[in-house]
Amino acid sequence: MATNQANNGFVTRFAPSPTGRLHKGHAYSALLAFARSRQEGGRFILRIEDIDTTRCRGDFVDGIYEDLAWLGLTWEQPVRRQSEHFVDYEAALERLKAMGVVYPCFCTRKDISREIAASESAPHGPDGPIYPGICKGRTDSEALLAKGTPHAWRLDLEAALKLIGGGPLVWQDEVKGKVIATPEELGDIVLARKDTPTSYHLSVVVDDALQGITHIIRGEDLFHATHIHVVLQKLLGYPTPLYHHHGLLLDEHGERFAKRNKSVTLESLRNDGTDPATLLSHPSDFGCPNA
Ligand code: GLU
Repeated sequence: MATNQANNGFVTRFAPSPTGRLHKGHAYSALLAFARSRQEGGRFILRIEDIDTTRCRGDFVDGIYEDLAWLGLTWEQPVRRQSEHFVDYEAALERLKAMGVVYPCFCTRKDISREIAASESAPHGPDGPIYPGICKGRTDSEALLAKGTPHAWRLDLEAALKLIGGGPLVWQDEVKGKVIATPEELGDIVLARKDTPTSYHLSVVVDDALQGITHIIRGEDLFHATHIHVVLQKLLGYPTPLYHHHGLLLDEHGERFAKRNKSVTLESLRNDGTDPATLLSHPSDFGCPNA
């Protein structure tokens, strides 16, 4: 593949969560990002997103390294593992607290579903029902915090948008063009969970900034998350990278590849004697709808 002159201004990444073995969908995404970094003469970073210490496993991390190496990918060392950097996410959360754009949430899942069931129209977003704001503005928060009541931290989206002010938030997407963010569809998302001092949204935004990622190439299943990521980037003073949300690979039944379907893991393809070169030289074999 032709490599342009070194362009270290181009930095992309592949950021899997080690909750299972990688499948063809992951291979497609990783190869797309890797090939692009080579075309641009830029950098390719692998990041392990293992904040969920109950679901992530060390053997799946090893599996990621094995599978990507089998595909012929190389990446920079050391690999950032999010579970080793909770202090970075806590520091970002502290900054957001100081801005007055977060609030503690003491709700259990049951509290939230009960509230939603009781309300006449519970707005739904791409991630399911939007948090109905039970803990927003509650007057006993300080007392509950002082007592050590388990709590998450949520973004106060209304306060955040007020603080950001100005016109609409936008991002540039290589597939979809200019996108006007509608973070209201996700609402007051969780920034730090009860059991983990961060969340996917917070840690991904912090890491993309810390690692100087200029191009985010990932599946369109994460397109909706970008609506909130641009809000966090603005609040924290981070640049908004260029995005490329690619179409998802579908199996012969038209279903998305999923980690639970063992037959299509890269490990099983390798064990069946598949030559990874076939995946590399015929990316169209992946059957992806809109790369
Ligand atoms: N860790 C996420 C996942 O495995 C991907 C994060 C991202 O690319 O922003 O789905």
